[in-house]
Amino acid sequence: MATESYAVCDNCGTQFGEASPVDCPICWDVRNQMRRGQPRGWTTVEQLGADHRNVFRDDAGFTGIGTEPAFGLEQRAVLVPFGESNLLWDCVTLIDDETVAEIERRGGLSAIAISHPHYYASMVQWAERFDVPVYLHEDDRAWAMRDDSRIVFWSGETLSLSDDLTLVRVGGQFAGSQILHVASRDAVLVGDSVLTTLDPDWVGFSYASGEIPGGGWTQLLPLDEVATKQLHDAFAALDFDLVVGSWWEHNLPTNGKDIILRSAVRSILAVRGDVSARTMPPVGGYAPLEERPTLETSPFREAERV
Ligand SMILES: [Zn+2]
Repeated sequence: MATESYAVCDNCGTQFGEASPVDCPICWDVRNQMRRGQPRGWTTVEQLGADHRNVFRDDAGFTGIGTEPAFGLEQRAVLVPFGESNLLWDCVTLIDDETVAEIERRGGLSAIAISHPHYYASMVQWAERFDVPVYLHEDDRAWAMRDDSRIVFWSGETLSLSDDLTLVRVGGQFAGSQILHVASRDAVLVGDSVLTTLDPDWVGFSYASGEIPGGGWTQLLPLDEVATKQLHDAFAALDFDLVVGSWWEHNLPTNGKDIILRSAVRSILAVRGDVSARTMPPVGGYAPLEERPTLETSPFREAERV
């Protein structure tokens, strides 16, 4: 089957292993449901390439890859140095000759790993093009909409890919949600297992949330205590300072571990109804009022969305 025949959901950007899927299970799941009530359509990677392009840009010291104009869930992928080559962390739907050439120029690709099903995108087309494996957690196998022998479903809690790179299952939004630990950079790449807010002192943890471009949310369902504790313990076992999130500039440049652990404790107290969560100070205490971020100065404000 030619790649032009593989349908892509134009809401979430997932590519299916068939030309005419009945519907998109990822979009009907409560954890996505962006633009609920609007008709969904289908496109292909090739059609997408007619009026979109990928851009490469430094983000937190890594090379980010994002699609313009925005498409799907608007995540950006990240090229992570992997030996003499790179690992692609998370994925975007558009892959074209220009994207491949730029990645080859930057050392090529030797593996793909994806945090959770919302970013599976056209992972099989990427894997075919570079002839590399895709590492997904076994617990999310049912969400892979296009089968391929290059997909490696791993099980357990950690998978070491090299001395530098380790996949860690953290669970939470999906049972198989994983993060990538990069030892040489003292960093974790977290997908949306950790949600940065306008306040850089705290992060949030959500089972279902989706910010719609231009403002508004699709769901605001908090993560339960058991899952938040599991996330807390997975991050507590790692050494890191830098946290790299799902979208451009949605990163914690420093103190990331302390911020995540303290935020997880606060979230658990809050869902228990413990009022001490409401007055818990952040790591290092609150900055003086005049130094706290505002809508104008928050590092997570995305200028291109204004
Ligand atoms: Zn979809």
